[in-house]
Amino acid sequence: MINQAATSFVRLKFELFSYTVIRHIPKVLILLVLILNIKKTSRVFYLPFEIPGTQMAATVPPFGIFIEDEFENEGDGPGSILRHEIVHWQQYRRMGLIKFYYNYLTLYAKHGRVKNWMESEARQLSK
Ligand SMILES: [Zn+2]
Repeated sequence: MINQAATSFVRLKFELFSYTVIRHIPKVLILLVLILNIKKTSRVFYLPFEIPGTQMAATVPPFGIFIEDEFENEGDGPGSILRHEIVHWQQYRRMGLIKFYYNYLTLYAKHGRVKNWMESEARQLSK
């Protein structure tokens, strides 16, 4: 009896990524998404590294807006990157999480990053 308890304690302590821990990860993630999604408030994160490719920023609901830190002082005035990303955040608020990603990804696949209407709308409204 004592041996068994000791064994399970050792297993818990040394197998951090055991089934016991891993099986809770989806639940925790769903909870996190739900909490963030209910609020739908935009958060801006400035990244201390470059996003690969020509992209300078990304809106990733429900987590927030991610912008390379060289644009931190640019503000949210007309034509700014932050203004553009805020329009994407409004699209997310309008559509909801699943529809936002579904629309964006299907439009991206069909028309690319520049020519899809969600990008056109963001460019238009951030002028
Ligand atoms: Zn965009």
